[in-house]
Amino acid sequence: MRYIVKVNKERCKSCFLCIEYCPSKVFNVSKNFNKMGYHYVEVINGKDCIGCKRCVIICPDVAIEIYKYSKKEDEMKLKIGVIPDCFRLPIKEGIKKAAELGLDGIQPYATYGDLDPKNLTKTGRQDLKNFVEKLGLQISALVGDFGGHGFSDLKMIEWRIERTKEVIDLAFDLGVKVVTTHIGVVPEDENNISWKTMEESLPEVGTYAYNKGIVLATETGPEPAELLKKLLDKINNPGLKVNYDPANLVMVAGDDPVKGVYTLKDYIVHTHAKDGIKLPDENGKKRWKELPLGEGGVNWPEYLKAMKEIGYNGFFTIEREVGERPEVDIIHARDFLRKLEREIWNK
Ligand code: SF4
Ligand code: SF4
Repeated sequence: MRYIVKVNKERCKSCFLCIEYCPSKVFNVSKNFNKMGYHYVEVINGKDCIGCKRCVIICPDVAIEIYKYSKKEDEMKLKIGVIPDCFRLPIKEGIKKAAELGLDGIQPYATYGDLDPKNLTKTGRQDLKNFVEKLGLQISALVGDFGGHGFSDLKMIEWRIERTKEVIDLAFDLGVKVVTTHIGVVPEDENNISWKTMEESLPEVGTYAYNKGIVLATETGPEPAELLKKLLDKINNPGLKVNYDPANLVMVAGDDPVKGVYTLKDYIVHTHAKDGIKLPDENGKKRWKELPLGEGGVNWPEYLKAMKEIGYNGFFTIEREVGERPEVDIIHARDFLRKLEREIWNK
């Protein structure tokens, strides 16, 4: 039996009796203060809760709730994740921060630093998996995007295929089912060299992923949804899916992200929660501005209704690539999505 442990941090008065009495070492003292000025306790190891309720009984401030995990409830929940790199902290600190903010999952970059597959031994992979699980988080996907022109760049294609396979292997070792990437900009002309390069190279990585029970999901945005669908339909590989980023569709492609949900409904396995606006082109160059969630061009209520209608039950992963205060913006995004969860998702 699994249990969900919740602490109302604003009620906590730092007596730390819950830490003393919990047999499963579920709680820890937060470095942060609540509005009353106390270092509240946070859940660091909810997965090990045995449901004894000693913490509930002992807490003098009725700050703790324990309830049984319900699969149905989990399925209904709007799962909110974050790209932990967005906190701009050392990666483990970013992951801990995600747990501290009560998020459900993470989608870390696996293309550089500590999580580059080249830097993670078998033991290191197991340690990472344990570390994330103990925080009660799920790794919804790994970012396997090596930048540049993606799978449209013929000169780099062999290197990119090998590096992407390494990330797929890491996902396999971590029990992660989705690796995300940018394949490059899909051109309209099927005879264009970029189209040909993608069409010829992507089946190899798609099949490699699929044989390991994983999918490679390309991010929407540089081209309209219809064009991406055309390429994916033509390749027709079960290991190739879509990481749906509604903001990219608005900011870069100038496409309607609500309509795009229906266009790509058979491919969407993961999504980003991001917002922004398209700016007028300058000297033939596309320009855009990323904005905090709810302040850009994505119609979030209609977008969530569309995702619900196609039966999407995966993660909405907050991505905040700009701004001076990433944590503040991520908290704002979390609260914005939780509000929509109550008003739209659970209706
Ligand atoms: S027992 Fe209650 S008030 Fe005391 S530290 Fe734990 S949550 Fe806070
Ligand atoms: S119910 Fe028991 S095991 Fe779970 S957090 Fe409370 S004291 Fe710890």
